[in-house]
Amino acid sequence: MSVALDDLIALVPAPPGAAIYRQAGEESERIDLRDARALFEGGDVLVAHAAFVAGRLGTRAPVMLFDVLELFAFVRPGMPLVPSALGLARALGLRLPHTPEESATALPVIAHALLAEVAGWPQAAREVLAPLVGTLERAGWRWAPLLKEIVGEAPHGSPIAGLEAWRGLTPWEDEAPVGQPGSQTVEPAEARARLQELVGLMRPEQGAYVDAATYAFGPREQAGAPKVALVEAGTGTGKTLGYLAPASLWAEKNGPGLWISTYTRNLQRQLVQEIAHLWPDPVERAEKAVVRKGRENYLCLLNFEEAAKRTALAPGQRSVALALIARWISSHTDGDLSGVGFPAFLAATMPLSTVTDRRGECIYAACPHYRICFIERAIRRARHASIVVANHALVIAQASADWLGEDETTDTPTEKEEGRRLRYVFDEGHHLFDAADSGFAASLSGREMTELRRWIRGPEGRARSRMRGLEERLKDLVADDEAAQGAMEEAVQAASALAGEGWTQRLGTNPRGPGEVFLAAAYAHVRARSQDEAFYSLEAEPQPLGQDLLGAVETLARALKRMAEPLARLARLLRKKMDDKSADLEPYTRARLEAAARGLDRRAKATLPAWIQMLETLAHGEVPDEFVDWFEIVREDGRDTDVGLERHWIDPTQPLAAAVLAPAHGALITSATLRDTGGSDDHWASAEVRTGAGHLAQPARRAHFGSPFKYEDQARIFVVGDLPRRDPAALAAAYRELFLASGGGALGLFTAVRALKETATRVAEPLAAAGLTLYAQHLDRLDTGALVDLFRAEENACLLGTDALRDGVDVPGRSLRLVVFGQGALAQADHPAQGAAGPIRQGL
Ligand code: SF4
Repeated sequence: MSVALDDLIALVPAPPGAAIYRQAGEESERIDLRDARALFEGGDVLVAHAAFVAGRLGTRAPVMLFDVLELFAFVRPGMPLVPSALGLARALGLRLPHTPEESATALPVIAHALLAEVAGWPQAAREVLAPLVGTLERAGWRWAPLLKEIVGEAPHGSPIAGLEAWRGLTPWEDEAPVGQPGSQTVEPAEARARLQELVGLMRPEQGAYVDAATYAFGPREQAGAPKVALVEAGTGTGKTLGYLAPASLWAEKNGPGLWISTYTRNLQRQLVQEIAHLWPDPVERAEKAVVRKGRENYLCLLNFEEAAKRTALAPGQRSVALALIARWISSHTDGDLSGVGFPAFLAATMPLSTVTDRRGECIYAACPHYRICFIERAIRRARHASIVVANHALVIAQASADWLGEDETTDTPTEKEEGRRLRYVFDEGHHLFDAADSGFAASLSGREMTELRRWIRGPEGRARSRMRGLEERLKDLVADDEAAQGAMEEAVQAASALAGEGWTQRLGTNPRGPGEVFLAAAYAHVRARSQDEAFYSLEAEPQPLGQDLLGAVETLARALKRMAEPLARLARLLRKKMDDKSADLEPYTRARLEAAARGLDRRAKATLPAWIQMLETLAHGEVPDEFVDWFEIVREDGRDTDVGLERHWIDPTQPLAAAVLAPAHGALITSATLRDTGGSDDHWASAEVRTGAGHLAQPARRAHFGSPFKYEDQARIFVVGDLPRRDPAALAAAYRELFLASGGGALGLFTAVRALKETATRVAEPLAAAGLTLYAQHLDRLDTGALVDLFRAEENACLLGTDALRDGVDVPGRSLRLVVFGQGALAQADHPAQGAAGPIRQGL
């Protein structure tokens, strides 16, 4: 049933109740929580972000209501947005609301503006949307009847009419490979001139930073000896543009091959925004700068199509979410679900993992959407881009695959980057050690075994997946080759030794096969040797091994060897086929054979030998000197989710230096916190150790610059020393008083989620009474990026968070005036207590 927009009441949470605006010329007013809930649950209300509002009111969102964020995502797909009335008003160029009352008053104005925008489109543009609006109306979307009055009735068509957004995507083309990057020099003077163009007025310390950074872009003089610059620069130096200046010059002179890597998503988002200074034209920018993320970040069109077909006829919020994703697909997006233009608020109504490539499911060239696939497109664009923006984990995964002679992460030839990562900038360089520690570790766990088993045997039992096993994938390729068929059957048979679907349920009573028996013995070993802490993962030293575990280790090692041999043989036979029939093979078949052989080799020559070596050294009690091993039970929210044997490098910067740095020609490693502080004479000692620079043939060049902020004049540090330990009420009272004293603009950091929640519950009402909005990670149904956007947009908001808010969060201006570190957060923070009266970057 259609409701007139002017009859709707706009509602904005304002603890302990809400602010509402009834339109018809009335003033906005406050109502209590009970009335707010009743109004909200009735459904005929205008809100911004229904799930967030429901959380604030302590209720569930009714099936459908008038969510202005959804209308915005429909009308302006792909446009970045801060998900609030303030963010909507800013995006539309309307008067900015600053209080809950003003926000409530603004919502109808925003809705009218968006509908008027659609009405102003040319008729053809409106008609194109009619099928999708029809589908949305059948799904029960409240905005659909109002939009239908504007775009018109759709002709009767497919039940998923308008959802097939993939039909409008242009296929990617395989361009000619780019040649080897050049080695033309970048002079500090020209880098300074580039910076001057970008910023207008260059501060002296920023100019000096550019000089130091430019060293990493000089020509390499000796193989294996990259030019590495370690440059520490305090908060506010302007590092990002400082390195983008020489980096962009290097790319112009030498071609693709430059990768900029961050540790956190927060900084990656900011970096992408800074790159707009280099290429203001969005079309040129999209060509020159590419963001590369792990494949799980991208929309998988095949999963999207299947989800659309499954839910097409079911009214409900999930269908609405899919329709809004269809609009986003049609907005020339790069397919990145964690990118700035994706309507991230949809995650509150539909798990986004439904439409991503869940690990190992991609069927590559066999996929009907392969030629328009976002992931494949991003990989190809990265090869030709001037600047590739990535993260430490992805850079390390790619480099380590090259180092081990494997392909990157897939079984297709397409992700092979062909060694064109010649120059690196590692921002947040103080995290390289941690990234290398996880990136170069090996894990023989239930999760890893199950994944390999699925790759070889396909889904078993009732597991629903489109992933196919070796036989399904390769049957046509080996149809005329008995030897290859024999090797494949042997491998499939041998893989039954690995843990399979449902192994966690069988562990205690009925483990099946050598893999599960090993996991059961490892589980018992950890429980026997560790302190039982209900909520956290448990670890135990491997030695001494009990008899049961020793027997399980030896049996599994033998079983894994039986698996590696036929996999390697099958790879050899596929390569032989490529050689024998090279004249007759279609390029597509050749590519599949090559990809299959590479995938088999990766398992047979890297994964399985690493596991076998871990087991054999465990059985003999002789772990190689460079590694440390332990058994682990992984617990999430008090539930055991994985068990296994872990092997980490004692110094993970050894492989980092060998695999990432040494093959490059230059690397800038930069951060606000690279050096030691304290009494040591050599403040660079741990920076050399933690970045791997000390392992290189040529010493790194080092430079440091202090922050331009005068913290001693601009900041005050308060140490609250009279709080009773473990008293949540006292802790919350301290936060409350500090937040009230600063008048908002405050960030509260915690190490424990429970302490955060207890504090948030206690301070929300007094802060609201003082007109201060509180946002809280883990409580508000918003992703971290959106929370920071909201905090940044509102000058007097308060934000509570844990680790994700400690690093790389940039909040310039008055929106951040106070940082409060709870117990423990201070010890863990890289850059403690920076409450400053001027612009401040938290964390870095
Ligand atoms: S190629 Fe793979 S990731 Fe891409 S759409 Fe197809 S199945 Fe999804």
